[in-house]
Amino acid sequence: MSDTIAAIATGTAVSAIGIIRISGDGAIAAADTVFRAACGKRLTDVENKRMYYGELIDADRGVIDLCLCTVSRGPESYTGEDTVELHCHGSPVVLSEGLRALFLHGARQAQAGEFTKRAFLNGRMDLTQAEAVIDLIEAESPAAARNAAGQLCGAVVSKLTAVYSALLDIVAHFHALIDYPDEDIEEFEIQSYLPALAGLEEDLARMLATHERGRVLRDGVPVAIIGRPNTGKSSLLNALVGYSRAIVTHIAGTTRDTVEEKVIVGGILLRLIDTAGLRKTADPVEKLGVGRTIDALNSAKLAIIVLDSSAPLEPDDFDALRAIPPGVAALAAVNKSDLRPVLDDAALERLGIAHCRISALTGAGLEQLGAMLIGLLPEQITPPSGELISNIRQAEALSRARSGVGAAIAAIQASVTPDAVLTEIESALLAIGEITGKTMREDITARIFERFCVGK
Ligand code: GDP
Repeated sequence: MSDTIAAIATGTAVSAIGIIRISGDGAIAAADTVFRAACGKRLTDVENKRMYYGELIDADRGVIDLCLCTVSRGPESYTGEDTVELHCHGSPVVLSEGLRALFLHGARQAQAGEFTKRAFLNGRMDLTQAEAVIDLIEAESPAAARNAAGQLCGAVVSKLTAVYSALLDIVAHFHALIDYPDEDIEEFEIQSYLPALAGLEEDLARMLATHERGRVLRDGVPVAIIGRPNTGKSSLLNALVGYSRAIVTHIAGTTRDTVEEKVIVGGILLRLIDTAGLRKTADPVEKLGVGRTIDALNSAKLAIIVLDSSAPLEPDDFDALRAIPPGVAALAAVNKSDLRPVLDDAALERLGIAHCRISALTGAGLEQLGAMLIGLLPEQITPPSGELISNIRQAEALSRARSGVGAAIAAIQASVTPDAVLTEIESALLAIGEITGKTMREDITARIFERFCVGK
């Protein structure tokens, strides 16, 4: 028996369409009291997964909307239970009146993520798919949405299931021999599993290695905008973002802290970090800002060094260039191209990094700058199809699973007894089970669904 939950599944703003979702054993009966089909049928008699036109009735039995209604009977529904959706006009008043009427007929307000939690608990999806639902809703770029959609289709769980099943085979073989000594079961030679375990460890390592890209895909590629004060770093950030986010002034050292904004360039989400001007300074506050700039640079994937084309290069420009760590791709944005140029191409060539002439003031050259930035991120260009682990919880458990398999391999190589090897394999199985939700503790499950909003 499941109690009946109901919620407005769409946003709270006025919109063209608003959806009320109801799920549980009493969903159809409750919905039947608020919906009158134009064809005269009761909801208990309507066809499954077909839309019916009719009236939405409030708690006083008055018509408050004309809407469409779909009944999806369990277990073939999102939650696995009887589910009803009422597609109304997107008026917050109409929707809440509809909801109020449902509450009078046995439904209760759904909690955040409760529909998806029920889908998980009823075996309609595993935990990676449930987490993909929220990632899909919150995706900030087309690529992140595509990866989440791939996970929702089971890209992560199908890979993990293969590893899980292979590990389970080993454990089952061992236990079968002990539990059924009289049966004609092939001898258990733990050594013979070494190549298979090595292959499985590699599979897990490969999945884990996608986490860095997955994280960047979800949160954006960190791009540090650096340079000496007054070259136009904040102006460039503003120009790229399209509105005034950072404070722009002509007084050197205004940006004392880092300012972050997200933009989508060429389909890729970039996390632009405007930094304090890099220069030697005695001012303690500015010093702090410079320290933050160094931190931002160290965690960046890409650095844009902004130069002022209307002035000669200064030692501070070279210091900024030298501050870029070796692994970070760099590009010089030669700003203020609307002014009389002082920096010639020969001087810029000597910097040893690609450059692009721009004007943050007029917007000239920004498109080319964007294209050059994307060109420096080859690994971000291939669109993912769900294979990237973007979730830190999953990555952490994956790492434990990999360690478990690694420890099992080391134990076999050290010729320890098979039961010690199996303990390691079992720990890997537990960790994989945590990712998919097979062996998930209740408090962790609750925490995961807290991230959702009501109606999802
Ligand atoms: P930051 O200290 O490097 O962040 O530099 P700001 O963005 O605060 O800009 C410093 C000064 O340069 C301001 O007066 C801006 O208006 C000016 N500036 C920025 N970009 C351009 C540009 O493309 N052309 C011109 N002419 N001035 C610019």
